Amino acid sequence: MKHSGQPNIAQLVDSILEEAVQFGASDIHFEPTSTELQVKYRMDGTLKTFETLPAAIRDNVISRLKVLGNLLTYRNDIPQEGRIEGTQDQLVISDSGKVIDKRLAVFPTIHGQRAVVRIFYENDTLTELDKLGFNPTIESALMQFACRNQGILLLTGPAGSGKSTTLAALLRYILQQFSGKSIVALEDPVERAIAGVTQVQIEPHREMTFPTALRSLLRQDPEVLMIGEIRDAETAKIAIEAGLTGHLLMSTMHSGNCSGALLRLLEMNIEPYQVTSGVSAILNQRLVRKLCDQCKEKKPDGSYEPRGCKQCHNTGYHGRVLLAEMVELDGQVRKTILKQSDMEGLEATFESRGHMKLIQDGRRLINQGITTSTEIKRVCGT
Ligand SMILES: [Zn+2]
Repeated sequence: MKHSGQPNIAQLVDSILEEAVQFGASDIHFEPTSTELQVKYRMDGTLKTFETLPAAIRDNVISRLKVLGNLLTYRNDIPQEGRIEGTQDQLVISDSGKVIDKRLAVFPTIHGQRAVVRIFYENDTLTELDKLGFNPTIESALMQFACRNQGILLLTGPAGSGKSTTLAALLRYILQQFSGKSIVALEDPVERAIAGVTQVQIEPHREMTFPTALRSLLRQDPEVLMIGEIRDAETAKIAIEAGLTGHLLMSTMHSGNCSGALLRLLEMNIEPYQVTSGVSAILNQRLVRKLCDQCKEKKPDGSYEPRGCKQCHNTGYHGRVLLAEMVELDGQVRKTILKQSDMEGLEATFESRGHMKLIQDGRRLINQGITTSTEIKRVCGT
């Protein structure tokens, strides 16, 4: 896209939104610098600059976005959030299907306002547990967990590693197996509607916090609980108690690996015996980019490397796939936690139990020519 002379700002913004949808981008960033406004798309989890607009129209572009998002155009000094509705890109169909929602967030910076548009596609919401791409061992362990009446599954991994997609798929799987179950999800924010699940929007800065909502919810006789994230000791404590008293509970926690999630619970002053009797399993996952099938090239050693073509917008990658490791708490793992072991001790126990690490699951994908070792190293941080 080239823009010369005095562009029509409304058309320009529309064309950026449309192009991003065509590319299947999940986010569009409008980042002001001292001299320009950079427009970046997040595709398959990676940000790439697609356009650089002159500083002269920087404020007009952001203002136009704010009009589309029904935000206060005269307030440039506060963060604002809104929804963009009724633009032409609703009609564009990308690989991910039609756009179902677009959320706008603007934020003041020293170079003017920065805006991010998050795009939600219909196919993002349709993933079934057996279509997520877990290796067969983990997939069947997750299905077994979903059929239990009690216990806790914790998901871990950085933001954008597909945790909420896995949780949604698990809830849908439970509904398919046991249609009458009472399922409640507490989320901040609610990301996608799931038919058959009572979804509650958490407002952390107001009265509806995770602990408050969770405590009163337990009096509503739920059988399955999904908590968007365990962020504090109070939520952790109630969650563990719920898992010990006849509820199936799943949630996410921020940590780099399975042992980290267990240790974080202990740091939140959960007693080791509560962790060992409450938690059933920890799942650590990442999303890696898949090599583009149209242009990937075979190297002499049999592995593949990215090239770049029209279909993958010259990135060499197209779409993403899951990488995961799962630790189920068996007798030996429980003993190690009760001994108040550190991360090294826990990792050693996992290894002695034949635990398959994230990076080993990655080798499966490299051997199948699905992704590259560079990509595995990027997401595993090694
Ligand atoms: Zn390609």
